[in-house]
Amino acid sequence: MAKATNIEESHNLLSPNKVYIPLASVNSKYYDLFVDEGEEVKVGEKIAERFGDSKTHIFSTVSGKVEGVVELEFHSGIVVEHLVIANYKKDIIHVNIKPVEGELTASNIQKKINELGIKGLAQRGLYTRFDFSKTVDHVFVNAVYQNEPFIHVNPELVHHYQNEILEGIKLLSKAAFAPVTILVRSNEDASVFINEGFNIVRVNPNNVGVWKYNAIRKIVGKELSKDLLDDRVMFVSTDTARAVYNAVVKGMPVVETDVLVSGTALKGNAYFTVRVGTSVKEMIETLGYAEGVEDASIYIGSILCGRTMQSDDFSCTEFVNFVGVDIPKKDEPHVCIKCGRCNDVCPVGILPQNIMDAELRMLEERIFDLDVSKCIECGVCSYVCPSEINVLEWIRRAKRRIT
Ligand code: SF4
Ligand code: SF4
Repeated sequence: MAKATNIEESHNLLSPNKVYIPLASVNSKYYDLFVDEGEEVKVGEKIAERFGDSKTHIFSTVSGKVEGVVELEFHSGIVVEHLVIANYKKDIIHVNIKPVEGELTASNIQKKINELGIKGLAQRGLYTRFDFSKTVDHVFVNAVYQNEPFIHVNPELVHHYQNEILEGIKLLSKAAFAPVTILVRSNEDASVFINEGFNIVRVNPNNVGVWKYNAIRKIVGKELSKDLLDDRVMFVSTDTARAVYNAVVKGMPVVETDVLVSGTALKGNAYFTVRVGTSVKEMIETLGYAEGVEDASIYIGSILCGRTMQSDDFSCTEFVNFVGVDIPKKDEPHVCIKCGRCNDVCPVGILPQNIMDAELRMLEERIFDLDVSKCIECGVCSYVCPSEINVLEWIRRAKRRIT
């Protein structure tokens, strides 16, 4: 596993030769494409609309020429169609990029967030999407820069983007009609948020996998649902707050993102500021593989609940904030010794070992009775397993079996 705790380098890849923008997703392969091959597009131009539970607007992140559609692995692990755009590297902004016009009322802020397809940039685990039709009593913001349990993500970013983040949080609070609680790791991290009228809570991220859950549960005062919106809670990252600021104040959809790339198979680690749609292969090649490495296992998201990718041939979307590149383990996982540790630590009180067992035996009714849908995919069951079984992956399979 990757164990870097310090960021060694930072790179700017804001001018890639091409970007690869996913058109379909795990929820929907249907979309309307508004541009043709050979057509010129500009930064922030709406190029497609995807259909699913709700419409998703898709924007160009560079100014350049549409080259066509290719199939690539998506961050959810399936292969979907991507639009390829050759970058002219002139960054011409589309004429429709305009901030909220008139007063910054809740309804105008909500409208802009929806119009620009801002969804919440950390989509896995407890984080919530934006759904302003639901009443919210609390807005929680995760300002703990950690990719559990080994990688500490760059706290410099919160200082670097301080103004955008603070203004984005205030806009969100206004749009959601709810007060804000910021989760921080230290007094130093808290210094960015004091005197802003936010409730600030210090958490201990060493309590791997459950600290977010516990901090929110304590304030809400009850057990939490899988979808926090059902508990009238909105939970976002500081990246999302920044995206809200850029949407409302500048009228810009998410065209850039910050990604940490690290792992035992690499020469070092680095923070990359990239255009959304940049090839991850290009980012990894910038760092270089460590000497003698011939094979690597690549995953995105966190070590606990991230997703393994087939190869490095995928593009970096706004939902990818970490790419792990590790030397693959030689040993196969051991068998379950029924120690019960995974059952003991599960923050939502379900029984991952029993669910895994039911999934192995394809017992649909049993899976259903074991409340698998309550799983928040925190990954802590996999983390504590002495047999190094990817318990979460079994839970995901069980979920798929009954949906
Ligand atoms: S089953 Fe595992 S991943 Fe799901 S909530 Fe429990 S500990 Fe977390
Ligand atoms: S922690 Fe691992 S070995 Fe122990 S019961 Fe759970 S799956 Fe089995």
